[in-house]
Amino acid sequence: MNGRTRSQERILQVMQELTKPTSAQDLYMELRNHQFSIGLATVYRSLDALKLSGLVQVRTLPSGESLYSLPQEDRHHLTCLRCGSSISIDECPVHDLEHELQAHHEFRIYYHTLEFFGLCPNCQAREEVAAGAVE
Ligand SMILES: [Zn+2]
Ligand SMILES: [Zn+2]
Repeated sequence: MNGRTRSQERILQVMQELTKPTSAQDLYMELRNHQFSIGLATVYRSLDALKLSGLVQVRTLPSGESLYSLPQEDRHHLTCLRCGSSISIDECPVHDLEHELQAHHEFRIYYHTLEFFGLCPNCQAREEVAAGAVE
């Protein structure tokens, strides 16, 4: 099955213009701004279908919110567990590994995710101040 529905086409079209990963809700609003009246349930259903065919990738935040983006965007993040801020890393550390795995396991890899979690410099400083106060 490679036939895409009109909703899927429109979602992809709108996503191409977006510069950062977007939640389904925001995508729904964006579609409305483009005069594409697609119901929220259809947006979710279409995103799910696009995800299964590797045309869209999903990143789930610690808050549980899912952000969708086009898979060409091979970007990774350092995410702070305390304040939720995320810093993107410019280069992909597993690019070669992906090709190797694909060849070795004859697995068609659509995309990968790699994310690092911890404390940002601000939160580390705050933690040190808090620890100092206890003593
Ligand atoms: Zn932080
Ligand atoms: Zn990567």
